[in-house]
Amino acid sequence: MAKLYFYYASMNAGKSTRLLQADFNYRERGLHTMLWTAQVDTRAGHKAIESRIGLAADAERFDGATDFFGRVTAAHAARPIACVLIDEAQFLTPDQVWQCARIVDELGIPVLCHGLRTDFRGELFEGSAVLLGIADALVELKAVCFCGRKATMNLRVDDSGNAVQEGAQTEIGGNDRYVAVCRRHFSEALGHRNPWSGS
Ligand SMILES: [Zn+2]
Repeated sequence: MAKLYFYYASMNAGKSTRLLQADFNYRERGLHTMLWTAQVDTRAGHKAIESRIGLAADAERFDGATDFFGRVTAAHAARPIACVLIDEAQFLTPDQVWQCARIVDELGIPVLCHGLRTDFRGELFEGSAVLLGIADALVELKAVCFCGRKATMNLRVDDSGNAVQEGAQTEIGGNDRYVAVCRRHFSEALGHRNPWSGS
């Protein structure tokens, strides 16, 4: 039975590495796959999907208008696809997550989504919220905080290393960077300020 999988984690937990390993396992057996990643990261000279340990692969790019069901149906008709693998799945729209469910249910193709659970405020990404709701299998990939605990949160820090508390959910081309930390150190870095409280 094909399933809709959601492999979720914080930054630097090895999501892309795991995706590329799964892709390799299919291709090693002579099976065809279809790889996707978000349009947001288009740095020149880089493969579409790159893992921190050096693996890389090209992939189709999606944005909010991409018709996953139509594109996969057409590709599958031309050459049978054994598995669809999606990186940066937190950027899927709710409708696109449901299209992934149709790929599983109607075409019988497993869809492996990989993405962040929450943003720098600790709020669910839209795509991740729907995946957590309807995926057949939820698999947590683990990163480690500097204290040794499981890192479940993504702290956004500026040039000076200070925690960023406001701004767009996705910072593109900025100088901010992300650090995976445990919930305790996430909360401490934000001064125990509940992002929803407004205080
Ligand atoms: Zn910690």
